[in-house]
Amino acid sequence: MHEYSIAYDLYATARTAAHEHHATRVKKVSVEVGKMAMVNPEQVVYLFDTIKEEDPLFHDTVLDCHETAPETTCCCGYTGSEIFVCPKCGALPEMVKGREIVVTNVEIEVED
Ligand SMILES: [Zn+2]
Repeated sequence: MHEYSIAYDLYATARTAAHEHHATRVKKVSVEVGKMAMVNPEQVVYLFDTIKEEDPLFHDTVLDCHETAPETTCCCGYTGSEIFVCPKCGALPEMVKGREIVVTNVEIEVED
């Protein structure tokens, strides 16, 4: 169900953007999925396709999911992608990026 609400959010975000720009067609929705978001991108794409089915604006929209590596920092100054143990001091690093799911781009077609 986690994936369903994500897919729906992505659809809603893209639809809002499309309406704001008076789009006649949504061609592509690009999404960044943090690896630590614990989301299966394939399932999100599948659910997105199911949700958008009855919306003519989204007739042939491609949902492009990119998995992004986590980013962490540590109090010792380390920054990198280690999430459990800091390779410099052995402490637990703090995650600054990696759990987010963000729409980075919505490609639309506008009637001229
Ligand atoms: Zn450290």
